[in-house]
Amino acid sequence: MSRLILPMIILLSAVLLRGYAIEWMPVYGQILNGMPWVFTAIALLLTIWFSRSLPCASVLVLSGMFILIKTELQVSLDQPGALAVFSMLGVMLPCCLVLVMLLPERGLRGRAGIQLCAAAPALLGCTLGIVKYYPEHAWVSVLTAAMPVRPWPGYILSFQSSILFGIALLTGLLILFRQRKDAVISALIVLVTGYVTLVLFDRAMISTVMVSAAGLGLIIVMIQSTRDMAYRDELTGLPGRRALNERLKGLGKRYVIAMMDVDHFKKFNDTYGHDMGDEVLKMVARHIGRVKGGGLAFRFGGEEFCVIFPGRDLEYSQPFLEELLGTIEQYSMSLRNHSDRPQELEQGMQRRGRRAGHRKSTTVSVTISIGMAEPDQGNDSPATVLKAADTALYRAKNNGRNCLAW
Ligand code: GH3
Ligand code: MG
Ligand code: MG
Repeated sequence: MSRLILPMIILLSAVLLRGYAIEWMPVYGQILNGMPWVFTAIALLLTIWFSRSLPCASVLVLSGMFILIKTELQVSLDQPGALAVFSMLGVMLPCCLVLVMLLPERGLRGRAGIQLCAAAPALLGCTLGIVKYYPEHAWVSVLTAAMPVRPWPGYILSFQSSILFGIALLTGLLILFRQRKDAVISALIVLVTGYVTLVLFDRAMISTVMVSAAGLGLIIVMIQSTRDMAYRDELTGLPGRRALNERLKGLGKRYVIAMMDVDHFKKFNDTYGHDMGDEVLKMVARHIGRVKGGGLAFRFGGEEFCVIFPGRDLEYSQPFLEELLGTIEQYSMSLRNHSDRPQELEQGMQRRGRRAGHRKSTTVSVTISIGMAEPDQGNDSPATVLKAADTALYRAKNNGRNCLAW
């Protein structure tokens, strides 16, 4: 969700700065008119370069909207042809963008991905093509009559289209609430751009400033997404080893490093399968990521995690790590339809068989061990402290696991 904030600030600034753009037009006209094309072209190239079919589809829908506005909608909406294109844009934009939000990402290397990427802009193009060439056709007239533009003073988009935009917005936010998806963020940027542009359609420069801002927003999303690929662990969503190494460089003289490792995880994988192992890792990572006391969580690798408390000492950090041990120990996950599991698991991982209705379900829980260390009189390097935390982790394992050592 936080990913949406910066692009939305840019879009809002575009609405507010539109007045200045009109003033600058006589001097910087060429630059201003070129901006939407330059930004959308860069965004398009980035999506192709990073092989992202859905953000690519969003950029194409945005470009399609801008091309239509520039070629077909520079005349009064009182003309039936222009009104038909405008009305269809108000229907097809939210529909195409919902399609982008719901489709799976297939990349751009294979045919499937390219087809997916083309689906939304093709739908937009075909429908608007029909409307453009048959503006007097019965169903076009019915549609435009059913969705009267200018429902309120200063508000051009029809009420019905506004509802469609609202539904599309809600769909995107609901998906984002459950999982962070760059494709949905890209689609939402284009959706809000389309909505604002069509609502304020009679204001000078509106499409130029909004499409420029959207292009910039899409470029930022693509850059953030590549940064994530380098710094964030894909499975758990926690910052990864590279991010940890960067953070270690910026630590001062006082800090605590805690290394943690899931107990008997190999056995868990052997018993429940690698996929269930992954689910448990995600659950463990979620708890570790929420550690209190200002701890910063990282996935160190495999089933090992690391938490740093910058500017803190062992005494301060200990209760937060103890709390984390308890939270993970008490959390039980429900696994379904695995009837062939062995009857026992070793210590550190308890299985409580519970059968709900006629669906077989088992609840499992795991434990972790933690080793923590701090610099000795502020002289040790972070690498030395990390090693000391790792040694402490082995002490915790030897002490019977599911405990903290230093
Ligand atoms: P200990 O209590 O001593 O830590 O025992 P352990 O079995 O957890 O220790 P070990 O390091 O031998 O096993 C780690 C296992 O973690 C090996 C591998 O199967 C599993 N593992 C590492 N990364 C992943 C992953 O991304 N997903 C899954 N499912 N398993 C992983
Ligand atoms: Mg391990
Ligand atoms: Mg382990």
